[in-house]
Amino acid sequence: MIIDGKALAADVEAETRERIARLQEEGVTPGLATIIVGDNPASRMYIRLKHAACERVGIRSENVNLPQDITEEQLLQKIRELNARKDIHGILLQLPLPGNLDPRKAMMEIAPEKDVDGFHPTNMGALLLGAERLVPCTPKGIIYALERLGVKIEGAEAVVVGHSNVVGKPIAAMLLNRNATVQVCHVYTRDLAEHTRQAEILVVAAGVPGLIKEDMVRPGACVFDVGINRVKDKTVGDVDFDAVKDRVAAITPVPGGVGPLTVAMLLSQTVFAAEAARR
Ligand code: NAD
Repeated sequence: MIIDGKALAADVEAETRERIARLQEEGVTPGLATIIVGDNPASRMYIRLKHAACERVGIRSENVNLPQDITEEQLLQKIRELNARKDIHGILLQLPLPGNLDPRKAMMEIAPEKDVDGFHPTNMGALLLGAERLVPCTPKGIIYALERLGVKIEGAEAVVVGHSNVVGKPIAAMLLNRNATVQVCHVYTRDLAEHTRQAEILVVAAGVPGLIKEDMVRPGACVFDVGINRVKDKTVGDVDFDAVKDRVAAITPVPGGVGPLTVAMLLSQTVFAAEAARR
């Protein structure tokens, strides 16, 4: 089965619209502010996608475009302004930042209750303690898909390839919180295939096209390919999709798999932040 990320994302959008309608009865319209520094074309494309999604569901969104040569203090000041605004419930700082700006410092300035990317240490800490609040969007989308597909996470052998702060570490923690047995592999793992072959749930977020080949997956596995790579003008994932797809029970395509779900989860988290702000 090919997991249709677009269809799942459409369902999340429908659920989100209903939650927004309830908020609007109380006079609240969820608001998202995105910040982009400089003019990285890929970042601009992601921001456009996110704003279009906000518009589809009824989240008010605005973009703060800062020049490439902005100082760290100016960026932090902008974040503080957004933290103080009542009409902004979520703040998203688009990465990467220019080299002179420390992304960690900027992330820490975002009020944890508005941190819709789930990167603030307070939210990451809560996630690790098993008290998930705002969590990174890509892992949240993967958990949503597993639940929708009816895959039993408890007791499952799960293998995560990649140990980034945005995907690998948080999805490993979220699978652990749901009582999977989790292995995390990365570039220093000695025999990657030995681990991936054990996976009933395999999440691959390495950024290496074709990393996972047919003989590296367990028959009947559920595979989430997070990778986004440009190869000869085509976007491909980290899994050799054509070779692997007939061996596994379910797999996400690239594009059209994890990507749309990630954007949908940003909407869901912005609404969560707006709901939480009323209490
Ligand atoms: P990253 O780029 O920060 O780090 C890569 C990770 O993969 C590291 O843990 C590294 O050790 C591991 N790795 C690299 N080569 C490896 C190899 N040969 N064998 C095993 N492990 C290896 O990670 P990231 O930011 O999570 O991004 C990973 C990929 O996912 C990228 O292609 C990125 O564009 C994509 N991504 C997609 C989405 C989405 O919404 N679909 C979201 C975030 C990231």
